[in-house]
Amino acid sequence: MVRTLLKITLSLALLATALVAHGAVLDVVPVSATVYALVGPLGQRDQANAGDNATFGAVLTPEGVILIDSGAGDGGAQLIARALRGVTKLPVRWVINTGSQDHRWLGNAWFAARGAKILALQATVDDQHALAAQQVQALAQAGSAGGAPPSPLSSPDPLAGDDARLVLGGVRVELRRFGPGHFPGDAVVWLPEQRVAFAGDLVFADRMLGVLDNGSRVDQWARSFHAFASTLHPRVIVPGHGRPCSLEQARAQTGDYLDWLVGQARPAAENMEDLQQAVTRIDAATPRTFRELANAGELNRKNINRAYLQFQMP
Ligand SMILES: [Zn+2]
Repeated sequence: MVRTLLKITLSLALLATALVAHGAVLDVVPVSATVYALVGPLGQRDQANAGDNATFGAVLTPEGVILIDSGAGDGGAQLIARALRGVTKLPVRWVINTGSQDHRWLGNAWFAARGAKILALQATVDDQHALAAQQVQALAQAGSAGGAPPSPLSSPDPLAGDDARLVLGGVRVELRRFGPGHFPGDAVVWLPEQRVAFAGDLVFADRMLGVLDNGSRVDQWARSFHAFASTLHPRVIVPGHGRPCSLEQARAQTGDYLDWLVGQARPAAENMEDLQQAVTRIDAATPRTFRELANAGELNRKNINRAYLQFQMP
């Protein structure tokens, strides 16, 4: 009896190890018969997630896969390729970048070497060029580059303007930009027939978004979010972080939080309130809905601090 129990316990332990080893790093979530979200962990970059602490998208066409964002380097790209093998045998024919943060594009070269065409708007590519060296170095320091150094490759043929309409493998795909988001060059991939938006880092779901010091201001991000929401009215959003969600959830967890940050940090900066005092006061008054988001403990104070500095008079 004891031996049987021990055997069962051991097999369960082995099964659990096998599941982890099999890279349940990216959770494959079907959005429709041909659309998938590949959902990475909500926390920080580490060796196990190879920098893929983000959400990616895939659209299956008869001619191959359209991949939305390519992972944070060669290691991140391989995690995506492994996750895709569970849903299709088709190769990745196109990679579209929604942004310039590491996990949006540093896996481009890995997919390009296997025959994929890389597509992105000019504004996104400009950002990528400006950030490449710094991102590769940061990933290597975090030990999440998956061994080999990632080989960045922007789209060799950037799409002009803020609105590119394509047909890939017979599927209509639009690449739309609504203004600065998490990064200045953030864009959205839109499937008009299914009304699905791959929002990239314009939308964070389930976790608190991070405000960075990269030339994109929180009030601009808020405006871009509202323009995106009111222009497209998506049925489903595949966010840049978190699980596929409704527009209502995206509003509650990204749009409302940005509006709240702007509403709190701007007057504090304009009234020249002491920075530390303002951060502590605003942090303490944070509504529970935002406080309950993943990563709020480590990000909320930083976000308030950065938003305040963005509104400081030059
Ligand atoms: Zn991101």
